[in-house]
Amino acid sequence: MSHLPRLQAVLARKTGDVEVDLLVERGLDGRVRLGGELSADLVLQCQRCLGPLSLPLAVEIDTVLLTGSSQEDVFDGIELCDDELLLHDLIEDELLLALPAVAAHSETQDCRQGEAPQKYLLQNGEVEKANPFAALKDLKLNKPSTR
Ligand SMILES: [Zn+2]
Repeated sequence: MSHLPRLQAVLARKTGDVEVDLLVERGLDGRVRLGGELSADLVLQCQRCLGPLSLPLAVEIDTVLLTGSSQEDVFDGIELCDDELLLHDLIEDELLLALPAVAAHSETQDCRQGEAPQKYLLQNGEVEKANPFAALKDLKLNKPSTR
């Protein structure tokens, strides 16, 4: 996970394993295909209740790795490079793409959305209730002087 700083940045918990099951094979046409699956159990922050949202991800990878000799095919492949970081980049990109635009618990999941805002409203309600009474008190206290 520490190899994936951009992914890490969007996670609520910075831990977790990314399973990489990739196969690189050279096809008959000389192209090098990269296929396989990435899977990860990520923990994001629910945008509704701000609680932890565990998100199992599985991403199918099927792409063409480009070697230096096939520059003309740059449109739908990834330039092959010995640098291992490039693979990390690829994995990170794929996982980032697979993340939902808005991370939130589904209705069937344990979203604490109901709890937090209600507590918040209650607190606000108490404050709002307290204020009019306080104002009334002031009014009553002030009234005798006008009577
Ligand atoms: Zn939630």
